[in-house]
Amino acid sequence: MSKALICSCEDVTVGDVRHALSRGYCDVESVKRYTGFGTGICQGKSCLAAVAALIAKEGPLKPQGIQPFTPRPPVYPTELSLFGSAPVDESRPPVGGVPEELGVFPPALRPNTPLPAKAKVVIIGGGVMGLALAYNLSLRGETDVVVLERGYLCAGASGRNGGGVRMQWGTAANIELAKRSIDLMKQFARDLGINIWLRQGGYLFLAKTEAVARRLERNAALHNKHGVPTRIITADAAREIVPGLTMKGVLTASFNPEDGVIFPWPFMWGYAQHCLKKGIKVETFTHVTGFDISNGQVRKVKTDRGDIACDTVVLAAGAWSPEIAKLADVKLPNEPHRHEILSTEPLKPFLGPLVSVLDSGLYFSQSMRGEIVGGMGDPKEPAGLNMGSTLRFVARFSQGLMEQLPNVGHVKVLRQWAGCYDVTPDNNPVLGRTPGLDNLLQMSGFVGHGFMMAPAVAERMAAWMATDEHDDLFHRFNLRRFSSGRLEREDMIIG
Ligand SMILES: Cc1cc2nc3c(=O)[nH]c(=O)nc-3n(C[C@H](O)[C@H](O)[C@H](O)COP(=O)(O)OP(=O)(O)OC[C@H]3O[C@@H](n4cnc5c(N)ncnc54)[C@H](O)[C@@H]3O)c2cc1C
Repeated sequence: MSKALICSCEDVTVGDVRHALSRGYCDVESVKRYTGFGTGICQGKSCLAAVAALIAKEGPLKPQGIQPFTPRPPVYPTELSLFGSAPVDESRPPVGGVPEELGVFPPALRPNTPLPAKAKVVIIGGGVMGLALAYNLSLRGETDVVVLERGYLCAGASGRNGGGVRMQWGTAANIELAKRSIDLMKQFARDLGINIWLRQGGYLFLAKTEAVARRLERNAALHNKHGVPTRIITADAAREIVPGLTMKGVLTASFNPEDGVIFPWPFMWGYAQHCLKKGIKVETFTHVTGFDISNGQVRKVKTDRGDIACDTVVLAAGAWSPEIAKLADVKLPNEPHRHEILSTEPLKPFLGPLVSVLDSGLYFSQSMRGEIVGGMGDPKEPAGLNMGSTLRFVARFSQGLMEQLPNVGHVKVLRQWAGCYDVTPDNNPVLGRTPGLDNLLQMSGFVGHGFMMAPAVAERMAAWMATDEHDDLFHRFNLRRFSSGRLEREDMIIG
């Protein structure tokens, strides 16, 4: 492999491009998607011509089924202030968006080894939940496990999220899960040999309405009871934490210095690498298409690469879980909702915490690479598996961000993308056994906080699966609660 760099922003070598070509990615856009070249600060200005020349020289034919890389706005780095000046009609729902493929992946990447005919545990979904569970099962000695993932490991919400991790929640269950998760994140590099860049700069919540202000105060008291050092702070104290922050219309703020942000992708890579080392099969580009069911048990999981007989199936397919559950005649109440997000050019470190205006769903933080990363929920967003990008989002986000931090108007947006929240009626997950289908276990419905819950939830789930001892989590958040109406609403949801 040649180590000559072809894209210095993203450390992509000539060898990486040749490797992409050998896997069947034969056009500029597909190579870009596969290697990440041209996605850094120069946005391809320095490397595009060199990659194009290399592709032309190697002369591969474009095989059928290669998806073109979908250009996402902005097509060139554009200042937030320009986006902020775009008109937004808040009375109408967002329409369309630059589309992204959903589930259409290049056949060239499909493994050509056969799927195992049988496994003790089949996990559907290679997002953070599925992989964290497989990892935790392996820690308990269970390695007869297969993870099935329709696309690549970061194709779902786990590869598209904001990386926020916080203990500031509205219910005891979520506070305790988040605390445990953050403890596990602190030792992730030691346990799994990969740096997830955890930075505990805190979460600063701002409230602009009385109702949200009271909620912050009530929840801060609950946090303190659980040993979380959240404090309600004044506008001046908030400005000391984030210089330049305007507090226009802000009634109160809460701050927990132990919350923080991480870089999401190494999470997936760390768990997956460990699983592979332990002999667990992680089958990417493998689409679950149905089930063989008899006598109240799933006997086989069907895929587009063949069937796998199994003892236990775990449904951890995030926003796709309802459509997969339907294949087993199970109705989940979850709804997918698009959430858009963007990142800017890198700046010197200036922003300690993740800041969120709870009323509007605006949030922003600074990554370890210096980029401002942020999003904003849209109350008009209809339910649906839509992962397209809109100008409306960049405009709304830019307006919201500049209202809180006016001096970032000149900062340029480099990329935007979208993913789907997997939303349940009470904002809590669906966990545990499926009524009437005993060996189908549910692990979905993590709304906008699955990333930070995964290490703790997966740890508990692996223990529960291995010992079969009662665990309140899998009882309380069972699917049955939606028919019995015993819902426990989580109210600290961003967006
Ligand atoms: C924009 C955005 C920002 C967010 N910010 C945060 C945050 O700051 N902090 C936080 O904790 N959480 C955040 N979240 C939420 C978090 O990303 C999710 O809760 C979490 O990643 C869910 O993980 P998962 O494994 O359940 O689902 P996913 O990561 O979506 O994984 C499910 C997988 O199932 C696969 N699949 C689907 N259908 C099939 C099939 N038929 N066969 C096989 N595989 C299939 C999909 O390809 C996918 O990879 C955010 C989400 C979004 C969209």
